[in-house]
Amino acid sequence: AGFSPEKEKWQRSYEKAFAGMVSKESVAKFSKDLSVRPGVVGTPGNAANVDYAVRELKKAGLKPEVKTYDVYMSVPKKIAVTQTYPQKRELQVMENLPKGTRYASDVIPGYNAYSASGTVEAEIVYANYGRPEDFAELEKRGISVEGKIVITRYGANFRGVKPEQAEKRGAIGMLIYSDPADDGYSKGIVYPDGPWRPADAIQRGSILYIFRYPGDPLTPGEPSTEGTKRLDPAEAASLPGIPTTPLSYGEARPLLEAMEGEEAPASWQGGLPFTYKIGPGKTKVRIDLNIEYKNQPVNDVIVRIPGAKHPEQTVVIGAHRDAWAYGTSDNTSGWTTTLEIARVLGEMVKKGWQPDRTIVLAGWDGEEYGLLGSVEWAEEHRKELTENAVAYINMDGTGGQFFGAGGVPSLKQLIYDVTKEVKEPRSGSSIYDDWFVRSGRKEPSVEQLGSGSDYTPFIQHLGIPSMDLGFGVSGGLYHSAYDNQDLMDRFIDPGYEHQAAGSQLVGIAALRLANAEVIPLQYSAYAADVVSLLEEFASKGTLGVDLALVIAQAREWQAASTELESLAQRMIADGVTAEEQSRLEQVNQALMKQERDLIVSEGLPSRPWYKHQIWAPGLTTGYAAQPLPALAEAVQAGDAAAVKQAADRLAAVLKKATETARAAQ
Ligand code: GLU
Ligand code: CA
Ligand code: ZN
Ligand code: ZN
Repeated sequence: AGFSPEKEKWQRSYEKAFAGMVSKESVAKFSKDLSVRPGVVGTPGNAANVDYAVRELKKAGLKPEVKTYDVYMSVPKKIAVTQTYPQKRELQVMENLPKGTRYASDVIPGYNAYSASGTVEAEIVYANYGRPEDFAELEKRGISVEGKIVITRYGANFRGVKPEQAEKRGAIGMLIYSDPADDGYSKGIVYPDGPWRPADAIQRGSILYIFRYPGDPLTPGEPSTEGTKRLDPAEAASLPGIPTTPLSYGEARPLLEAMEGEEAPASWQGGLPFTYKIGPGKTKVRIDLNIEYKNQPVNDVIVRIPGAKHPEQTVVIGAHRDAWAYGTSDNTSGWTTTLEIARVLGEMVKKGWQPDRTIVLAGWDGEEYGLLGSVEWAEEHRKELTENAVAYINMDGTGGQFFGAGGVPSLKQLIYDVTKEVKEPRSGSSIYDDWFVRSGRKEPSVEQLGSGSDYTPFIQHLGIPSMDLGFGVSGGLYHSAYDNQDLMDRFIDPGYEHQAAGSQLVGIAALRLANAEVIPLQYSAYAADVVSLLEEFASKGTLGVDLALVIAQAREWQAASTELESLAQRMIADGVTAEEQSRLEQVNQALMKQERDLIVSEGLPSRPWYKHQIWAPGLTTGYAAQPLPALAEAVQAGDAAAVKQAADRLAAVLKKATETARAAQ
């Protein structure tokens, strides 16, 4: 779809030539070279990886550029956790890396980026995953966390939600540990004999309140370049308030084992061999964090394959290039996959193959700290992206075995189409067929986009159709010092075949978006999904506010976009005349604009940086999406006037999209 018969032949041969040039040896080499040294933002290993990428891209005949932003960031100076009662015991905050580990002294201790600095000491209370319902359970039992240190386990939500929930309830500190039930021995054999988390492996990770806004905490909405006014850190709503730090289960175990108080509910029991208690009582802990805050450079690597026909229109592919340590899975895999696409497209340009629209490839820095590099770049390029971006494709983890996708509904069909074109290395069938079978032989679901990776600024801040494609990992070494090349070679993607398949897949998707005569964005499917979302809301009750008019508007959009799509298909059915050519330009403008119509400049009432009216990360989930966020939050708050306002606003954006679709017909 999207091509006239004549053009489709050319496109097919372009795709075939592209896929044929993708090499797993090349992917393996990039991966190995980039996993030598830990790549935390602001460190020498990260800088060395910038130089490497620039060199490799130049070899492919390309002209990479390094874009630097100056971002307010945390640097761990001292991370100490001490059990002070019943015994005194200093906890270990680093893995026991084997002797001879390369650049072991570059590995930073287990730490939560953007935690508050400071020293706190108190009894601990266990709060399961630290979700609102977990704290509600404590309240129900009359257990207060006020003045206490809360210990929670990783999982179920974005880790920054946990301290935010605790902070609201008066806790003074937080420990977050990896329970073996979630990604350790209860799941499978632990490293080095298997891919699951051993007793000493720590999940590092940011707790920046990205569900309020991601990127530089001091410049929401503006690029953190010279001359941009910075907020006072005390006013930055994304900065967490209480000292928070992660632990391995080896170190958390004695703390949990010594606890007293009520038995924790059955669903709170983890994989350690004793009955978990809630506390407080008996176990006391001191958290002593010296975390420095200062502005540091964030370096994005950007390279362009200029379009021949519409050089101003862009398809953007991005993957973060920073890591918590060696990062071979997260996210050297995604960045390697991106570099391979760039390399092959660069070689193809030398042979005379050029896309119609420009393909931009980006290696984002500082994603792990809070999507820093992608957010600042998107904020800086707001105008061009708003006018001319066709789509954004994100990759965060392409080294696993199991394909998965997230994206806006308009891109669903394209995702299905391209996954049918590429072979899945494990099964030998197409990626689509493998995905279909794993979905219980049903049309596989394309997940809603929440947050946690670099698509967020594109979809939720700027309204650019976005998707997130990758191969999921079966293993538990996320954000530990053991996410390394050895793990990749033996367990995650032996032979680097999935990463190569990822390059083929994303490259083909980008080439379709770049070359199509009718941009493959299907708003009829989008509108249908919005109708279902609205009907589901209406059925659950909206404090007496009638959603009938909003639903009618969504249906009108569905009708208008269906007509536009069939008109466009008719225009390309048997070649494109000169006159049709200029009409097609208008159709494509309308296709690009409809997603933009779904954002409002004031943003959501709860968080103005998030401008999309259909999708946002949930305020209490962080990663998982909250569809129709303003409506959902107003219902949740029991505020009928706000529900009415949210409904009116939804009707207005849907009307705008309908008009855009109509005007092009
Ligand atoms: N950046 C997110 C986080 O640390 C998740 C995706 C990733 O690990 O890159 O929560
Ligand atoms: Ca900013
Ligand atoms: Zn990560
Ligand atoms: Zn990642």
